[in-house]
Amino acid sequence: MKPGEKEAAPPRSARILAGSKTTPPEAAFGLESPASALKGVGPVVAGRLKRLGVEKAADLLYLLPRRYEDFRHLARIADCAPGQAAVVRGNVLAAHLGGGFRRGGKRLFEAVLADDSGTLTLKYFQFIPERLKLLLAPGGQVVAAGVVSRFSGSLQMVHAELFEPETGIFSAAAGLRPVYPATEGLLQTTVRRLVGQVLPLAARVPPVVPEDVRVSLALPPAGEALCFLHNPPPGAEVSALNDYTTPAHQALIFEELFLFQIGVLLQRRSRAGRPGIAFPDPAAAFQRFEAALSFPLTSAQRRVLAEVAADMARPKPMSRLIQGDVGCGKTAVALAACHACTQAGYQAALMAPTEILAEQHLRSVLGLPQLGFRPVLLRSGPRAAERRAALRKLAGGEANLAVGTHAIIEEAVEFAALGLVVVDEQHRFGVMQRSALLAKGGHPDVLVLSATPIPRTLALTIYGDLDLSVIDEPPPGRQPIKTIVLDRARRGEALDLLAAEVAAGGQAYVVYPLVEESDKLLLKSAVSQFRELAALLPAVRFGLVHGRLPVLERDSVLRAFLKREIDALVATTVVEVGLDVPNASFMLVEDAERFGLSQLHQLRGRVGRGPRPATCVLLAGSKSGPAGRRLAALEKTHDGWRIAEEDLALRGPGEFLGVRQSGLPGFRVADVLRDARLLALARREAQRLIAEGRLNREDALGKALLARWGERVRLMGVG
Ligand code: ADP
Ligand code: MG
Repeated sequence: MKPGEKEAAPPRSARILAGSKTTPPEAAFGLESPASALKGVGPVVAGRLKRLGVEKAADLLYLLPRRYEDFRHLARIADCAPGQAAVVRGNVLAAHLGGGFRRGGKRLFEAVLADDSGTLTLKYFQFIPERLKLLLAPGGQVVAAGVVSRFSGSLQMVHAELFEPETGIFSAAAGLRPVYPATEGLLQTTVRRLVGQVLPLAARVPPVVPEDVRVSLALPPAGEALCFLHNPPPGAEVSALNDYTTPAHQALIFEELFLFQIGVLLQRRSRAGRPGIAFPDPAAAFQRFEAALSFPLTSAQRRVLAEVAADMARPKPMSRLIQGDVGCGKTAVALAACHACTQAGYQAALMAPTEILAEQHLRSVLGLPQLGFRPVLLRSGPRAAERRAALRKLAGGEANLAVGTHAIIEEAVEFAALGLVVVDEQHRFGVMQRSALLAKGGHPDVLVLSATPIPRTLALTIYGDLDLSVIDEPPPGRQPIKTIVLDRARRGEALDLLAAEVAAGGQAYVVYPLVEESDKLLLKSAVSQFRELAALLPAVRFGLVHGRLPVLERDSVLRAFLKREIDALVATTVVEVGLDVPNASFMLVEDAERFGLSQLHQLRGRVGRGPRPATCVLLAGSKSGPAGRRLAALEKTHDGWRIAEEDLALRGPGEFLGVRQSGLPGFRVADVLRDARLLALARREAQRLIAEGRLNREDALGKALLARWGERVRLMGVG
């Protein structure tokens, strides 16, 4: 052996047998046992399993295959035709690692596979030697899948996918192989073997969905469904398995949606059952508010305000979600509600996702002095004295409006008489944050604003505890934003357009796709791009703003932009959604393909807010590639709802909303779009069960609810 070369690891099975871990006694090993109690799971594998969300045996049971490979139709080697894909099973006659001189130094691994009809050569130019040596050991059996070709008279497969002959529960008879969610360093074979160990526990999975409900929907019990999906019978239909439409899939999807819907409905009921504030005549306050504005409200704004007025007048807490496309004027509706609240002697809290937006809301409030707002701004970070003063004013009732970021939900903030909470740009807050705010005392009315238009079914799922209002009409006189997708190679043209627009009196944004605030590399590139732009276009006064900039500096840049002392703002993040600078009329988005369509739609909503016709240029790698074609949808439509639906269909709800940000529950199997029908069923059955008073802490359903929703379900009235 050459120095530095590692000795090949002993075969896995040998290592397992040599390990000191003993088989856990059957009685002690259960659904709640940690994954580390399984054979073959040491700290390293346990860590990798954790990345897949698997910490205990039950999690592994519920780790469902993403798809299935069908090995039931093995081809005979003699029947393989060049140019066609095939799966063959054979014995390895010989294997050989050669080369070093071939193909510019590249090595070649070759093996000869034989079945009773003929032979075929497997060739690899890129490979991990240890792995191939293990799978293609002469004398062993292997299944190879790939495209067959002919090379100097004999059949071959280049870079065929290899599979060990089936073992254990994944028997040769089944021939359908589950493929599990992958994580780095965890082999499919390892996951399959571990699942095989926990599968006997499936019989002990508690019946979460009550028997009568399950039977009426003709769904199998969960345990049976799990066995079916991990180890499908030979006759199973592979397309149904891959489409998640087998009764087994439906049973598990239903269970998940059912649990979720019960929680959502209970939350809603427990809020509705609490006493709330009956504000005196909110409609009159809304009229006074409109009179103070420089523009009349749109009829959509008025209609939504009428719904809000009815809610506020009722002695129950309001829980309403207002959806409306970007720029439709949600702020005015929110401030009107705040006015009705403060008029009645209560305090209102207006929570925005960023400080920049909070400051902007404060400016809007200060622009309406006749309405009697006594606002304070709450932000985290420095300025301790400012913060202390603000807290004192809120606790003492001297201030009647708190505007701020999530700093508002921090422990120290006390209100003398909180009557209304408005959460702006809800998609950036999680459900948890919302409930933390609600715990602030009393049972204030809650208004949630969102610019992310979501189809009604999805809204019901995520915000099932809220009533829904929609502002479906923009303020008059809005001109559509001219949107152009450009090849990155034509960036120079885009910059010329920018310079021309600035020269004509407009202002511009240049946006970089900094998805995560922590993305240091991109941040650096934005800073250097900012310098480069300033050098390229000396006539344009550039400013730079990003989430990492110290608050004071960021303030002054934004203020300068508002006052037109800066012509073009280089912004690194999408955090600045909601910025309202009416003179901004040009937007350049770099690397636009990194954004979702809805995000881009939000972004371009920053321009075209004033009388100047606006342009948005999206730079992408190639206009004719798939990313460019996707972006082209934005050239054609300005309807945020249609764009959102397109986006949802393309990316699925998790990506679309950002699971972490949206408070969208991370479902294990369910997909609220794909499973819309089951979602409706789950909601109906959940409603019925609650109405019949059948929830009970002690049964399987009650326990599952407790596990899913925590002690909150007790507060929500699960007996
Ligand atoms: P968003 O719904 O995206 O939060 P904003 O509340 O920021 O939108 O409103 C966008 C712009 O439209 C603001 O400049 C606002 O003053 C203006 N606006 C809102 N309502 C009307 C209206 N009824 N008529 C004219 N302009 C309006
Ligand atoms: Mg807004």
